[in-house]
Amino acid sequence: MTVTDAATGPTTTRGRPPTSEALHRADPQLADLLAAEAERRAETIQLLAGENLTTPAVLAALTGPLIDKYAEGYPGRRHHTGCALADAAELLAIDRARGLFAAPHANVQPRSATSAMLAAYAALLRPGDGVLAMSLEHGGHLSCGSRANFSGRWFDFTGYGVREDDGLIDLDQVRELARRHRPKAIVAGSISYPRHPDWAAFREIADEVDAYLIASVAQTTGLVAAGVAPSPVPYADVTVAATHKLLRGPRGGLLLCTAELAERVDRAVFPFSQGGAAMNEVAGKAVALAEASTADYRAYAQRTVSGARALSEGLAAAGVRPLTGGTDTHLVTADVSPLGVSGAEAERRCAAAGLLLGKCALPFDPAPAAETSGIRLGTGTVTSQGMGEAELAEIAGLIARVLADGAVAPAAARVRELARAFAGPA
Ligand SMILES: *Cc1c(COP(=O)(O)O)cnc(C)c1O
Repeated sequence: MTVTDAATGPTTTRGRPPTSEALHRADPQLADLLAAEAERRAETIQLLAGENLTTPAVLAALTGPLIDKYAEGYPGRRHHTGCALADAAELLAIDRARGLFAAPHANVQPRSATSAMLAAYAALLRPGDGVLAMSLEHGGHLSCGSRANFSGRWFDFTGYGVREDDGLIDLDQVRELARRHRPKAIVAGSISYPRHPDWAAFREIADEVDAYLIASVAQTTGLVAAGVAPSPVPYADVTVAATHKLLRGPRGGLLLCTAELAERVDRAVFPFSQGGAAMNEVAGKAVALAEASTADYRAYAQRTVSGARALSEGLAAAGVRPLTGGTDTHLVTADVSPLGVSGAEAERRCAAAGLLLGKCALPFDPAPAAETSGIRLGTGTVTSQGMGEAELAEIAGLIARVLADGAVAPAAARVRELARAFAGPA
């Protein structure tokens, strides 16, 4: 592992920030933990759908001087003094978000996609209002009505799902449930659905019952930014995005909305649900948004999809069943039960071989929630490291082998080789 001082530039393993001398001196215990974490990453192939590698430029902004700035409020109307430069940084991020997504208004302050969802609901709804969203069993996020989340406690959720035969969103069911329940908002978006929602159809259904449409594209924000996925922005009242997944920016959320809702959305973030913005994250978002508007980034986004297709086809050829028969995104959600293992066992075996992926409950899954029949994978990180279709086809074969015969050692050796060969962005 390469370790240099932060000031000398981000030329370390996989673009991770160097563990600085100051940290080693002040807290060797934590410094060792971070060094071991960097080592773990260097030795494994990371296929968890929501993770990626933050870019070196974003990391530099994240650790820059705005980390210490208190800036409650918005540019030009802060509750603290000394905010002129923080204002300029936030305006850059806002302008870039508006430009990249062709959105009338952007709020770059949400600390996470869940915080952004909370603000979206707060801007549009009152406690007790009805919301129609993808059911958690079919791929909805916790913020779409889980009883363990604020959403399920404060709003009255109805869940729609996918069709059993082709795995695609059942728009007839969405329409029927919308007519029957007259929700105040409809949410489209999922953590595991590998196809693009039909935004125009969702808009039409929302209009028919006079509901707001919230698009949650946290998973695919980078694909929308790159024009590789259809944008919900022209259709949705509020769009919830994430800056840390495919976009390779800081961990955080992003809200896009119509001009009409701008004030309500801003107030729903601050002061309703958050305090002062993390200005270093806002600065990092500005950088990530600039990087995402380049031709290089568009090529990256396309490669995440072609890589996911190669992964999906490789798994299918080995007897694993990809949901919807394939993917239009960086995501592959697949049924591993034909190979005689559960999702949990698949996750364990693959992890033992250095292949990190997540078990995933499938729509109509007969297995208990702790076991599941599925796995979910994403190509964001490995594509950032430079892997392409050939490597992903090979990885599909390694996964299938570990699942089919349980022999971890041969796959593990090849995983380490591949992981070392693709060290990632300098
Ligand atoms: C990742 C994701 C979230 C949660 O993001 P956090 O930043 O961890 O809160 C919410 N909804 C969807 C659709 C996601 O993909």
